[in-house]
Amino acid sequence: MPVSDSVDVDMEDTATADIDGPALPINELFASLQGEGTLAGVPSVFVRTSGCNLRCWFCDSYHTSWEPTHAWLELEDIIAEIESHDVEHVVLTGGEPLLHEESVALLEALDDRGYHTTVETNGTIYRDAPIDLASISPKLKSSTPTPARDPDGGGASANGSKGGGEWAQRHEDDRIDLEALAALVEHYNFQLKFVVTDEADMDEILELLADLRDAADVAIPDQNVLLMPEGATRERLAETRNRTAELALEYGFRYTPRLHVDLWNDAPET
Ligand code: SF4
Repeated sequence: MPVSDSVDVDMEDTATADIDGPALPINELFASLQGEGTLAGVPSVFVRTSGCNLRCWFCDSYHTSWEPTHAWLELEDIIAEIESHDVEHVVLTGGEPLLHEESVALLEALDDRGYHTTVETNGTIYRDAPIDLASISPKLKSSTPTPARDPDGGGASANGSKGGGEWAQRHEDDRIDLEALAALVEHYNFQLKFVVTDEADMDEILELLADLRDAADVAIPDQNVLLMPEGATRERLAETRNRTAELALEYGFRYTPRLHVDLWNDAPET
């Protein structure tokens, strides 16, 4: 079972004194419409775990990666909260939810209860779990923090400064794991969702797809490849959306909206 050996969850723990059983660090747990991908528009409960092994400069869940915050919740409490909503779909997201071994137990419990599960992952970790849809978002070079794009504010020069500097190299080293990607597409119904910042991303997408098609034992149809515009606000999406749609048309891939941004802008728990 390929699991990234660079996993290092650097999180400040909240009190865990009251935790007796298996638990996960939860940043948000809420019901909304799925905003992205082939299930866009489907009512779903979102379980957002904290902690990520990457640091995309555009991360739209900053408090799971650059500045992780969370409360530890026992799995039985997470399931009780999910069951309080009248939905059939559960989205396990992050951060990177497959960092956590306990995510497997949660997915097994949800499978036992008949839920449809989507796991949103950056594709660097494979775990064996009952997953109905693996929504895999490999991170491109354009996601790497730079001095001009450093959400941590520490400067992304290669001087080892906190945040960008340290993470620029680490992110670049770890963002693609072909073995984990191949295992994910071989074992699960999947969609490959690429965040597109501009046209320059397309060469890398085509190159990665060629490598993955060589590495994996299953077909990867173009209809499973989704282009999603970069942008966590309506203002930014207005700049990236149309060009991304044109690129999807030009290359024969699928376009995915960011419905939650269109509807609720950058409001939390959407
Ligand atoms: S992989 Fe996802 S959660 Fe992690 S930093 Fe990138 S966008 Fe954020």
